[in-house]
Amino acid sequence: MALAQGARICAHHPERAGFALCMSCRLVVCQECATTRDGINYCRPCLAKTHAVAGQAGPWRRIVAGLAMAAASLALFLLCARLMVWAVVLLGGWR
Ligand SMILES: [Zn+2]
Ligand SMILES: [Zn+2]
Repeated sequence: MALAQGARICAHHPERAGFALCMSCRLVVCQECATTRDGINYCRPCLAKTHAVAGQAGPWRRIVAGLAMAAASLALFLLCARLMVWAVVLLGGWR
């Protein structure tokens, strides 16, 4: 009983009642500390952390993925073109 009651208190504000459970650090937080994002509860520090990581990796990752995609399709195109030339040369119909 005492444990259940203790778990119902905000991890950052001992005088406040717990409102939500952070899905990241599993701490009980009060209404003011809790933030809901995509329907999942987070405490403020955890949300700031995920937000910072997402903001840092988001655009850069998209650029890298786009460049890799472009390079891959270009390489595939060049390979196909070269294979076609080779095939024509091998068949003796180039000249
Ligand atoms: Zn948390
Ligand atoms: Zn709090």
